[in-house]
Amino acid sequence: MKKIYDLAIIGAGPGGIATSVEAILLGLKEVIVFEKSNNHSDTIRKYFKDNKRVDKDWKGIKVELKGNIHFTDGTKESTLDLFDTLVANKDIEACFNEEVYGITKQNNLFEIKTIKENEYYAKNIVISIGTMGKPNKPSYKLPVNLKDKINFNISECKNNEEILVVGGGDSAVEFAYYIAKQNRVTLAYRKESFSRVNPINLHQLFDFVEKDLINLQLNLDIQKVEEKNNKLEVYFSNNQIKQFDRIIYALGGSNPTDLLQRCGILLDSENKPLIDKNLRNHQEGVYLAGDIAGNVGGSIALALNHGYIISSHIQKHKPAK
Ligand SMILES: Cc1cc2nc3c(=O)[nH]c(=O)nc-3n(C[C@H](O)[C@H](O)[C@H](O)COP(=O)(O)OP(=O)(O)OC[C@H]3O[C@@H](n4cnc5c(N)ncnc54)[C@H](O)[C@@H]3O)c2cc1C
Repeated sequence: MKKIYDLAIIGAGPGGIATSVEAILLGLKEVIVFEKSNNHSDTIRKYFKDNKRVDKDWKGIKVELKGNIHFTDGTKESTLDLFDTLVANKDIEACFNEEVYGITKQNNLFEIKTIKENEYYAKNIVISIGTMGKPNKPSYKLPVNLKDKINFNISECKNNEEILVVGGGDSAVEFAYYIAKQNRVTLAYRKESFSRVNPINLHQLFDFVEKDLINLQLNLDIQKVEEKNNKLEVYFSNNQIKQFDRIIYALGGSNPTDLLQRCGILLDSENKPLIDKNLRNHQEGVYLAGDIAGNVGGSIALALNHGYIISSHIQKHKPAK
């Protein structure tokens, strides 16, 4: 006999965890969460530097929490502690190292297939895979044999390196100032000013620029990157050529479109999932939560609210026994 879950959630980040917690609190019985890495919250673990400040109103977007999860300003560690406690809930079946490959619908049931070729069945699906699985890359070619020195987060950074951070959002600014004390850091952004960065990050950035800890280069694009003597030689739009030990691109993330398509998700012309006010895609029983559902970039608090909205909708529309 195959087990049928009330709800299967793909991705154990804030959106997936919140959906599972709220669903259990609202009375759903069989809830399973699939996570491709060996622990929950992989984006936070990978992309947040130790002791990073975590803002509830990330990027200045004020969010009123709707659900039952008490999330406040804190640090990477306090945020992971909160999610550790939530995931420890015995009623939630968390399946780590289980990457979902796609879903199909058969006779009102969803069949979930994983990379390891396991199959699971559920009445409702929530896709909360974030957007960081596929970081945006620059349009120019990058030297393949130096790919270890071309990163999309700061986890590989050593000390005393000449590092170029590329980007103009909060992630780029945070990456730059987290590594600036141990390295020589240049932050290059192609526009002449920052428009999307929160005031605290901007303040910290300009403080570091004044103290000569960060070399800020605005209005500067990159034309090409080549290898020279095992370094990355960068050709800038102002005709400058400079060598770096490492480049970190913080250009945001794009939707993992292939997976969404293998899940039968309807996408708009920009490959963003189409959702209604309950975060439901066109198929009955299929929802999107967290960053993958957002049009204006996401945040932990927004992902938590998605979990509550979706679980409430599923509970309300559960067929009577
Ligand atoms: C550098 C940086 C700093 C940030 N700082 C803040 C901040 O201070 N405050 C704030 O509110 N937000 C911040 N954010 C944004 C915040 O991290 C995201 O909004 C939040 O993590 C989104 O949660 P999510 O559940 O949608 O996706 P994610 O956190 O990306 O989680 C998705 C999960 O799905 C898993 N997954 C992906 N594909 C599969 C698959 N096929 N099968 C199974 N599992 C899969 C991933 O491994 C991951 O664990 C920051 C982001 C970055 C990059």
